[in-house]
Amino acid sequence: MMQTATMDGRTWEIFVLEYARSKDQPVATLIQGAYDAGAIDLPFAFVLARSGSRNILVDCGFMKEGHGVEVAEKFGIPDWISPVRMVEAMGVKAEDITDVVLSHAHFDHMGSIEKFPNAMLHLQKRELLSWVELMALPPRFGFLTLVLDPDDIYSALDAAREHRLSLIEGDADDVVPGVHVRSGEGHTFGQQFVILETARGRIVVAGDCVYGAQNLTGHNHDGVYIPLGSGIGSAWDQLKSLDRINKEIGGDLNRLVILHDFDRWTRYQQVDEIEGFRIFKVA
Ligand SMILES: [Zn+2]
Repeated sequence: MMQTATMDGRTWEIFVLEYARSKDQPVATLIQGAYDAGAIDLPFAFVLARSGSRNILVDCGFMKEGHGVEVAEKFGIPDWISPVRMVEAMGVKAEDITDVVLSHAHFDHMGSIEKFPNAMLHLQKRELLSWVELMALPPRFGFLTLVLDPDDIYSALDAAREHRLSLIEGDADDVVPGVHVRSGEGHTFGQQFVILETARGRIVVAGDCVYGAQNLTGHNHDGVYIPLGSGIGSAWDQLKSLDRINKEIGGDLNRLVILHDFDRWTRYQQVDEIEGFRIFKVA
């Protein structure tokens, strides 16, 4: 009997779920040196992937609760819908999310992990430990933790106490069957990007290794990588991560999911819209 693509337990259907938009964000904060490019309303998104009875997320957005309210205000993010609501719109209950693979611990990527009580979390060990180290520094180093909501670190520790935290060291295949992670440091110290096996081959979810296609394609498409406009690691590490991603996708942007995509995922097919926030099918 022939199996359908989603029945083999390691081939994934992938959806991008938009859940927030910032207002008037200078492009130079995203693409280094793009001072003439003005400001844009930047979209925020995460990924839902389904295979058989397994529903996983790659990153999970943030909640406007507790510190999340302040953080949304601090970063000028007026438009928001609960990530849980977006997941439910896909017919998946929060408690049925089996895994959350986290690119990094910034509030807009890890800020709702407590809403998925049964999920195993997959995060680089270096990402978690480096944030503990940075939080402990004197306040004059506060720039480093500007985009971190410390509550999210506590939530990760809660998951650890419940034996639901997998701390990964570097590259790893099949953290969930058909889901691979690769270290992609530069934006943060323990960033990872995620590769998913799909019916149309491998798809890469960039986390914040890439803010916009321009990081990869260069100014005026000259092919010279451009570092991110914001990050706490080195430009050199960021460029190496861009190169790893570019090699993985063979230069084909149709195989890359950029979560803060300036082009708003126009490469993919829109399948739904909830209060103005859109859902796209990638594969
Ligand atoms: Zn980030």
